[in-house]
Amino acid sequence: MSVVSKKMAEYVENGSMIRRMFELGNQLKAKYGAERVCDFSLGNPDLAPPKSVQTAMLDLAGNLDRPASLGYMSNGGFPWALDKLAAWLSDQQKTALTRADVMLSVGAAGAMNAFFHSVLEPGDEVLGIAPYFVEYGFYTANHGGVFKAVNCRPDDFGLDLDAIAAALTPRTRAVIINSPNNPTGMIYPEKDIRALCALLADASERFGRPVYLVSDEPYRFLAYDGAEVPAVLPLYKYAVLISSFSKNYGLAGERIGYVALSPSVEDKELLMNALTLSNRTLGFVNPPVVGQYLMAGALGTDTAPALEIYARRRNMLADILAEAGFSFVMPSGTFYFFPKAPGGNDALLVDCLTEELVLAVPGRGFGYPGHIRISFAVEDAVIERSREGFKRGYAKAAGKLGL
Ligand code: PLP
Repeated sequence: MSVVSKKMAEYVENGSMIRRMFELGNQLKAKYGAERVCDFSLGNPDLAPPKSVQTAMLDLAGNLDRPASLGYMSNGGFPWALDKLAAWLSDQQKTALTRADVMLSVGAAGAMNAFFHSVLEPGDEVLGIAPYFVEYGFYTANHGGVFKAVNCRPDDFGLDLDAIAAALTPRTRAVIINSPNNPTGMIYPEKDIRALCALLADASERFGRPVYLVSDEPYRFLAYDGAEVPAVLPLYKYAVLISSFSKNYGLAGERIGYVALSPSVEDKELLMNALTLSNRTLGFVNPPVVGQYLMAGALGTDTAPALEIYARRRNMLADILAEAGFSFVMPSGTFYFFPKAPGGNDALLVDCLTEELVLAVPGRGFGYPGHIRISFAVEDAVIERSREGFKRGYAKAAGKLGL
């Protein structure tokens, strides 16, 4: 007798690598002391939100005596919040957007679920680029879809356009790109996104229905050395931007995110009505009240107040990894490194590092064995004390493979 569905029993059994590393981290911290463990497994921004967020929170707190100040509102968010978001995004996306083009939801995750709930027929395929954020598989399956991965180019983690073209079928409903990319740190150049849009425009024409480009961009503002993330909405009429303020403003737990549509999408009103209905019927009902006030307070201020801190940590870690013998592509964005494992054995490397109390996630947890993900959303002190652990762990893994 099973108390849960077969599908859920299987999901629970398999778990997620990140979750498993999180639990292992807690066990190691309890056994050896938190100050000895270097936990690079989580993508949880560790910095305080900016002052603008704190000010917005205090303002809201001082105004809670208004009627329904924390009550329900329209399913897509407060009209004033949508106006503010649309105006800010118009500038970011070099496209004139209004509140009719945007919907607020429960994080980027909620926005993506609302989108797939709105557009997928049972058995429709959603393509993602491996390595990928593992939740994409769940967000697709939640709404009757099938997630299919296409590998990136192995040398630089770029889009393999030929492989994507070959994977498109009449069942393909959407292609997800994530730039800057979790876990590789890659930012796709505009010319590759344009080429992808051309492929999808052609596929939409051939298959007789829109094949959407879903651009998942919660790391947009964590881009280093002046790198810019191209705006997707002007590039394709079926482009859908999904994002949040989780990473750049440290609001991950407050769950505020959004979906923005290309204003030239056909039947936009129907699609937006479907999205807002999905927000409601998936049980989100509406985006969080507090999150909307915090977003409004932060919009228009520095988009990445913590960038300098992350940039410094990125350099510190690059130095440590190079010294330990890792080969890696310097991430252009995000707070992750995705270096190669000796002999392509990511599981062995993670085990050897764990023995040194250094925690990272094997690439197979992102559908891409052979590498490991190291998050630098950790204090400088953790990075500083990880040097010897990385060295010994890497040497141990290479030694076991006779390399
Ligand atoms: N997409 C990617 C690639 C992510 O890494 C994350 C969070 O880690 C999300 C989406 C979800 O973002 P949010 O917390 O805003 O729902």
